[in-house]
Amino acid sequence: MSKQVELVVDAQATLGEGPIWDVDSQVLYWIDIEERELHVYDPRLDEDRRIDLLERPGTVVPRKSGGLMLAQENGFASFDLKTEQVTVVTDPESDKPENRFNDGKCDPQGRFWAGTMSLNKSQPTGSLYRLDPDLSVHKMCSDLTISNGICWSGDQSTMYYIDTPQMCIHAYDFDPATGKISNKRVAVTIPKEASWPDGMTIDAEDKLWVGHYGGGHVCRWDPHTGKQLDRIELPCPNVTACALGGPNLDMLYITTARAGMDKAALAETPLAGGLFRAKPGVKGVAAFAFAG
Ligand code: CA
Repeated sequence: MSKQVELVVDAQATLGEGPIWDVDSQVLYWIDIEERELHVYDPRLDEDRRIDLLERPGTVVPRKSGGLMLAQENGFASFDLKTEQVTVVTDPESDKPENRFNDGKCDPQGRFWAGTMSLNKSQPTGSLYRLDPDLSVHKMCSDLTISNGICWSGDQSTMYYIDTPQMCIHAYDFDPATGKISNKRVAVTIPKEASWPDGMTIDAEDKLWVGHYGGGHVCRWDPHTGKQLDRIELPCPNVTACALGGPNLDMLYITTARAGMDKAALAETPLAGGLFRAKPGVKGVAAFAFAG
Protein backbone atom coordinates (compact mmCIF):
# COMPACT_ATOMS: atom_id res chain seq x y z
CA MET A 1 0.00 0.00 0.00
CA SER A 2 1.19 3.46 -0.82
CA LYS A 3 2.26 5.66 2.08
CA GLN A 4 -0.30 8.28 3.16
CA VAL A 5 0.20 11.74 1.74
CA GLU A 6 -1.08 14.79 3.59
CA LEU A 7 -1.87 18.14 2.01
CA VAL A 8 0.14 20.81 3.85
CA VAL A 9 -0.68 23.96 1.84
CA ASP A 10 -3.43 24.09 -0.78
CA ALA A 11 -1.21 26.50 -2.68
CA GLN A 12 -2.60 25.96 -6.19
CA ALA A 13 0.94 26.66 -7.41
CA THR A 14 1.52 26.95 -11.14
CA LEU A 15 5.01 25.47 -10.78
CA GLY A 16 5.71 24.61 -7.14
CA GLU A 17 9.38 23.64 -6.81
CA GLY A 18 12.61 23.66 -4.87
CA PRO A 19 11.62 22.53 -1.35
CA ILE A 20 14.53 22.70 1.11
CA TRP A 21 14.44 22.30 4.89
CA ASP A 22 16.44 24.80 6.94
CA VAL A 23 17.65 23.00 10.09
CA ASP A 24 18.64 26.26 11.79
CA SER A 25 15.27 27.99 11.52
CA GLN A 26 13.17 24.79 11.24
CA VAL A 27 11.21 26.04 8.24
CA LEU A 28 10.75 24.84 4.68
CA TYR A 29 11.61 27.16 1.80
CA TRP A 30 9.95 26.46 -1.54
CA ILE A 31 9.11 28.44 -4.67
CA ASP A 32 6.50 28.87 -7.37
CA ILE A 33 8.70 29.50 -10.39
CA GLU A 34 6.07 30.75 -12.82
CA GLU A 35 4.28 32.99 -10.28
CA ARG A 36 7.64 34.42 -9.17
CA GLU A 37 7.08 33.55 -5.51
CA LEU A 38 9.26 32.46 -2.61
CA HIS A 39 7.44 30.61 0.19
CA VAL A 40 8.49 30.02 3.79
CA TYR A 41 6.44 27.29 5.44
CA ASP A 42 6.63 27.05 9.25
CA PRO A 43 5.12 23.76 10.45
CA ARG A 44 5.02 24.90 14.10
CA LEU A 45 2.56 27.66 13.16
CA ASP A 46 1.21 25.83 10.11
CA GLU A 47 1.81 29.10 8.30
CA ASP A 48 2.99 29.70 4.75
CA ARG A 49 4.54 33.11 4.11
CA ARG A 50 4.47 34.19 0.47
CA ILE A 51 7.01 36.65 -0.88
CA ASP A 52 6.66 38.15 -4.37
CA LEU A 53 9.83 38.32 -6.47
CA LEU A 54 10.51 40.36 -9.58
CA GLU A 55 11.79 37.46 -11.66
CA ARG A 56 11.38 33.70 -11.81
CA PRO A 57 13.34 31.91 -9.10
CA GLY A 58 14.87 28.56 -10.11
CA THR A 59 15.92 27.44 -6.66
CA VAL A 60 16.60 28.71 -3.14
CA VAL A 61 19.19 27.69 -0.53
CA PRO A 62 20.05 29.03 2.94
CA ARG A 63 23.20 31.13 3.34
CA LYS A 64 25.61 30.59 6.23
CA SER A 65 26.18 34.30 6.76
CA GLY A 66 22.43 34.89 6.99
CA GLY A 67 19.48 35.11 4.63
CA LEU A 68 19.12 33.05 1.48
CA MET A 69 20.63 32.62 -1.96
CA LEU A 70 18.58 32.39 -5.14
CA ALA A 71 19.41 31.19 -8.61
CA GLN A 72 16.89 33.09 -10.66
CA GLU A 73 16.05 34.08 -14.20
CA ASN A 74 18.99 36.44 -14.41
CA GLY A 75 21.66 34.81 -12.32
CA PHE A 76 22.69 34.25 -8.73
CA ALA A 77 21.38 36.63 -6.06
CA SER A 78 21.24 36.97 -2.31
CA PHE A 79 17.96 37.50 -0.47
CA ASP A 80 17.29 39.23 2.84
CA LEU A 81 14.30 37.65 4.60
CA LYS A 82 13.68 40.75 6.76
CA THR A 83 13.74 43.45 4.09
CA GLU A 84 12.79 41.09 1.20
CA GLN A 85 15.62 42.75 -0.74
CA VAL A 86 17.19 40.84 -3.66
CA THR A 87 20.83 41.64 -4.44
CA VAL A 88 22.26 40.31 -7.70
CA VAL A 89 25.60 38.56 -7.20
CA THR A 90 26.54 37.48 -10.69
CA ASP A 91 24.93 36.40 -13.97
CA PRO A 92 27.03 33.93 -15.97
CA GLU A 93 24.47 33.95 -18.82
CA SER A 94 23.82 37.65 -19.35
CA ASP A 95 24.31 36.89 -23.06
CA LYS A 96 21.48 34.32 -23.08
CA PRO A 97 18.14 36.05 -22.41
CA GLU A 98 16.31 32.93 -23.66
CA ASN A 99 17.62 30.91 -20.70
CA ARG A 100 16.67 30.94 -17.04
CA PHE A 101 18.15 29.29 -13.97
CA ASN A 102 16.40 26.18 -12.77
CA ASP A 103 17.07 23.70 -9.94
CA GLY A 104 20.21 23.65 -7.77
CA LYS A 105 21.60 22.93 -4.31
CA CYS A 106 24.78 23.39 -2.28
CA ASP A 107 27.46 20.74 -1.96
CA PRO A 108 28.79 19.73 1.50
CA GLN A 109 31.50 22.41 1.29
CA GLY A 110 28.89 25.12 0.68
CA ARG A 111 29.45 25.69 -3.05
CA PHE A 112 26.15 26.57 -4.76
CA TRP A 113 25.47 24.45 -7.88
CA ALA A 114 22.61 25.48 -10.18
CA GLY A 115 21.82 24.86 -13.82
CA THR A 116 20.02 26.67 -16.60
CA MET A 117 17.46 25.74 -19.24
CA SER A 118 15.94 27.44 -22.24
CA LEU A 119 12.53 28.96 -21.58
CA ASN A 120 11.11 26.83 -24.43
CA LYS A 121 12.46 23.66 -22.76
CA SER A 122 13.57 22.06 -26.04
CA GLN A 123 17.06 23.35 -26.82
CA PRO A 124 20.19 21.88 -25.18
CA THR A 125 21.53 25.36 -24.42
CA GLY A 126 21.65 24.99 -20.64
CA SER A 127 24.71 24.65 -18.43
CA LEU A 128 25.44 23.65 -14.86
CA TYR A 129 27.30 26.29 -12.82
CA ARG A 130 29.11 26.24 -9.51
CA LEU A 131 29.14 29.43 -7.45
CA ASP A 132 32.00 29.20 -4.96
CA PRO A 133 32.06 30.93 -1.55
CA ASP A 134 34.47 33.54 -3.02
CA LEU A 135 31.66 34.35 -5.54
CA SER A 136 33.62 33.02 -8.53
CA VAL A 137 31.48 31.08 -11.02
CA HIS A 138 32.57 27.93 -12.83
CA LYS A 139 30.77 26.21 -15.72
CA MET A 140 30.77 22.49 -14.85
CA CYS A 141 28.57 20.92 -17.58
CA SER A 142 27.09 22.20 -20.83
CA ASP A 143 24.60 21.12 -23.56
CA LEU A 144 21.83 20.55 -20.98
CA THR A 145 18.15 20.87 -21.76
CA ILE A 146 16.39 21.02 -18.36
CA SER A 147 18.97 21.05 -15.56
CA ASN A 148 17.24 19.64 -12.47
CA GLY A 149 17.83 17.62 -9.29
CA ILE A 150 21.30 17.48 -7.74
CA CYS A 151 22.69 15.93 -4.51
CA TRP A 152 25.78 14.36 -2.95
CA SER A 153 26.42 10.98 -1.32
CA GLY A 154 26.99 10.86 2.44
CA ASP A 155 30.71 10.11 2.02
CA GLN A 156 30.99 13.07 -0.43
CA SER A 157 32.56 10.85 -3.10
CA THR A 158 29.68 11.05 -5.57
CA MET A 159 27.45 13.73 -7.08
CA TYR A 160 24.07 12.74 -8.53
CA TYR A 161 22.47 14.90 -11.17
CA ILE A 162 19.41 14.98 -13.45
CA ASP A 163 18.98 16.59 -16.88
CA THR A 164 15.28 15.70 -17.21
CA PRO A 165 14.92 14.77 -20.93
CA GLN A 166 17.78 12.26 -20.65
CA MET A 167 15.48 10.03 -18.48
CA CYS A 168 18.26 8.98 -16.14
CA ILE A 169 20.19 9.96 -13.02
CA HIS A 170 23.85 10.54 -13.73
CA ALA A 171 26.59 9.94 -11.18
CA TYR A 172 29.97 11.73 -11.11
CA ASP A 173 33.03 11.23 -8.96
CA PHE A 174 33.13 14.32 -6.74
CA ASP A 175 36.29 15.80 -5.26
CA PRO A 176 35.23 17.57 -2.03
CA ALA A 177 38.48 19.54 -1.79
CA THR A 178 38.31 21.13 -5.24
CA GLY A 179 34.64 20.71 -6.23
CA LYS A 180 35.72 19.00 -9.45
CA ILE A 181 33.57 16.29 -11.05
CA SER A 182 34.67 13.44 -13.33
CA ASN A 183 33.82 9.93 -14.54
CA LYS A 184 30.23 10.62 -15.63
CA ARG A 185 28.05 7.49 -15.80
CA VAL A 186 24.39 6.49 -15.61
CA ALA A 187 23.36 5.43 -12.08
CA VAL A 188 19.65 4.96 -12.71
CA THR A 189 17.80 4.58 -16.01
CA ILE A 190 14.25 5.84 -15.54
CA PRO A 191 11.63 3.61 -17.18
CA LYS A 192 9.05 5.48 -19.27
CA GLU A 193 6.18 4.48 -16.99
CA ALA A 194 7.81 6.33 -14.06
CA SER A 195 7.79 9.54 -16.14
CA TRP A 196 10.16 12.56 -16.19
CA PRO A 197 12.68 12.78 -13.33
CA ASP A 198 12.63 16.29 -11.85
CA GLY A 199 13.82 17.39 -8.38
CA MET A 200 15.85 15.03 -6.19
CA THR A 201 17.08 14.57 -2.63
CA ILE A 202 19.18 11.94 -0.87
CA ASP A 203 18.35 10.16 2.39
CA ALA A 204 20.54 8.99 5.28
CA GLU A 205 20.84 5.56 3.61
CA ASP A 206 22.24 7.12 0.41
CA LYS A 207 19.10 6.40 -1.61
CA LEU A 208 17.61 8.95 -4.02
CA TRP A 209 14.08 10.40 -3.80
CA VAL A 210 12.90 11.87 -7.09
CA GLY A 211 9.74 13.76 -8.04
CA HIS A 212 8.40 12.49 -11.37
CA TYR A 213 6.71 15.15 -13.47
CA GLY A 214 3.65 13.69 -15.18
CA GLY A 215 3.95 10.50 -13.13
CA GLY A 216 2.00 11.50 -10.03
CA HIS A 217 4.55 10.08 -7.61
CA VAL A 218 7.91 10.35 -5.95
CA CYS A 219 10.13 7.29 -6.30
CA ARG A 220 13.02 6.09 -4.18
CA TRP A 221 15.89 4.81 -6.34
CA ASP A 222 18.99 2.85 -5.43
CA PRO A 223 21.91 4.50 -7.25
CA HIS A 224 24.06 1.38 -6.87
CA THR A 225 21.67 -1.18 -8.39
CA GLY A 226 19.52 1.23 -10.44
CA LYS A 227 16.43 -0.37 -8.90
CA GLN A 228 13.27 1.32 -7.67
CA LEU A 229 12.84 0.76 -3.91
CA ASP A 230 9.68 2.66 -3.05
CA ARG A 231 7.01 4.88 -4.51
CA ILE A 232 4.66 7.43 -2.93
CA GLU A 233 1.54 8.34 -4.90
CA LEU A 234 0.33 11.97 -5.02
CA PRO A 235 -3.22 13.10 -5.83
CA CYS A 236 -2.02 15.02 -8.91
CA PRO A 237 0.23 14.24 -11.90
CA ASN A 238 2.95 16.91 -11.94
CA VAL A 239 5.25 16.10 -9.02
CA THR A 240 8.26 18.38 -9.17
CA ALA A 241 10.57 17.94 -6.19
CA CYS A 242 10.92 16.70 -2.61
CA ALA A 243 12.98 17.32 0.52
CA LEU A 244 13.29 15.55 3.85
CA GLY A 245 12.58 17.90 6.73
CA GLY A 246 10.81 18.40 10.03
CA PRO A 247 12.36 18.34 13.53
CA ASN A 248 13.53 14.73 13.02
CA LEU A 249 14.27 15.05 9.28
CA ASP A 250 11.77 12.24 8.71
CA MET A 251 9.01 14.04 6.79
CA LEU A 252 9.18 14.14 3.01
CA TYR A 253 7.88 17.49 1.75
CA ILE A 254 6.71 17.35 -1.87
CA THR A 255 5.94 20.17 -4.32
CA THR A 256 3.60 19.91 -7.33
CA ALA A 257 2.46 21.97 -10.31
CA ARG A 258 -0.71 22.96 -12.17
CA ALA A 259 1.23 24.05 -15.27
CA GLY A 260 0.09 22.54 -18.56
CA MET A 261 -3.15 21.10 -17.12
CA ASP A 262 -6.46 22.01 -18.75
CA LYS A 263 -9.73 22.75 -16.92
CA ALA A 264 -10.89 19.15 -17.06
CA ALA A 265 -7.60 17.82 -15.65
CA LEU A 266 -7.65 20.40 -12.87
CA ALA A 267 -11.24 19.51 -12.01
CA GLU A 268 -10.18 15.88 -11.72
CA THR A 269 -7.17 16.63 -9.49
CA PRO A 270 -8.11 19.85 -7.65
CA LEU A 271 -5.20 19.59 -5.21
CA ALA A 272 -2.66 19.98 -8.03
CA GLY A 273 -0.12 22.66 -7.13
CA GLY A 274 -0.31 21.83 -3.43
CA LEU A 275 2.54 21.32 -0.98
CA PHE A 276 2.30 17.81 0.48
CA ARG A 277 4.13 15.68 3.01
CA ALA A 278 4.47 11.98 3.79
CA LYS A 279 6.41 9.82 6.26
CA PRO A 280 8.75 7.79 4.08
CA GLY A 281 10.19 5.67 6.91
CA VAL A 282 13.74 6.94 6.50
CA LYS A 283 15.60 10.06 7.67
CA GLY A 284 17.15 12.74 5.55
CA VAL A 285 20.42 14.62 5.83
CA ALA A 286 20.57 18.30 6.70
CA ALA A 287 20.73 20.48 3.58
CA PHE A 288 23.96 22.41 3.04
CA ALA A 289 23.99 26.20 3.15
CA PHE A 290 25.95 28.49 0.81
CA ALA A 291 29.26 29.20 2.55
CA GLY A 292 29.86 32.60 0.93
CA1 CA B 1 12.58 21.17 -11.43
